[in-house]
Amino acid sequence: MAVWRNSARRGAFKSIRIQILYPCNAKCSWCATRLKNPLFRELYQSGVSDAIHDYYIKVIERMQPEKVFISGGEPLLYPRIAHFLNAIQDHTQQINLFTSYQFSESLRQRIPFTQMPMEKIVLCHTMISFEPRAWADMTANFPFELYVNNIKAITRQPLRKRFKFIINHKSLEEEIALFQEQIKPDQSFEFGLKVINDQGGGINETAIQQTRRFTNKRVIDLDEILIGGHWGSKSYKVGSVEQMAPLLEDGDVTLCPYRSEPLELRFAFYRSNHKGQVLKYRYCPYFPSDFGYRFHIGRDNLDKLERNFYKGSFHNHCHKCRFLKYLPEDTAIELESDVLIS
Ligand code: SF4
Repeated sequence: MAVWRNSARRGAFKSIRIQILYPCNAKCSWCATRLKNPLFRELYQSGVSDAIHDYYIKVIERMQPEKVFISGGEPLLYPRIAHFLNAIQDHTQQINLFTSYQFSESLRQRIPFTQMPMEKIVLCHTMISFEPRAWADMTANFPFELYVNNIKAITRQPLRKRFKFIINHKSLEEEIALFQEQIKPDQSFEFGLKVINDQGGGINETAIQQTRRFTNKRVIDLDEILIGGHWGSKSYKVGSVEQMAPLLEDGDVTLCPYRSEPLELRFAFYRSNHKGQVLKYRYCPYFPSDFGYRFHIGRDNLDKLERNFYKGSFHNHCHKCRFLKYLPEDTAIELESDVLIS
């Protein structure tokens, strides 16, 4: 069994987030990443995806983060996923692997679960909706029954599973009840709550504006919702939503936990050409989409990733934090500088 290395060797970041550059089959209306599927296909076919994934392995080996979060594309369908997970398993305590559960039965049967380091994996999924009509609208009619069958089949695997429901949905309580009735989760399931995040080009801005009033209230009453969902003591609720709740009081970004300590290093693909590959990296989930430090693979030193957290000027962009869209219209946002936005 894999052994996580001595914590004294760990780098600064508690968690590292990466993207597997392999296309996803889903067409979720709230997701800007799906627009990159043609690009991800091209990167995979040209071998660039594998080269970038190999680089991610090196970063994880070097930084030894407590947790790794892997999104996509669709990591479960990436042909080398078992190789990737085995390569990082000795360098982290927990591998959080995101899936859409949106693929055919035959693709599902080809996922190599038995070759994966199951004891390290938490299989994560955010519900687009667990209400069949809303589901159809938001997924371009991916069959709800197939989605449910995929969840039932895959969650029989001996690994931890985490499902996050969207706080913004008025039907949240009904979705939780239907999930419990159809999936019948056991003790290996964990539950959490998530707010809709704004994505590239303001794709979710309207939904945030329409729902922010009751979403704010729900963020503050998280305990009540979790108890109402009968999720018990094993429920997973500490996440960005809970961490970010202090900002909702008055928009004071200096209270943001992502600024005070290196909680997260998150990478995204930026560009690839004859000169090499460039990644973008940031330190939180809500950074304005127009900002990110660049990292040139093979040219830049890995030290830069940590140095910019302590010495870089990323704080200057926090007045455009995407989480601030949840503030009521009349809230003044306080910044470290003397800029005031209302
Ligand atoms: S943009 Fe700034 S305030 Fe917002 S989550 Fe990121 S670090 Fe925190």
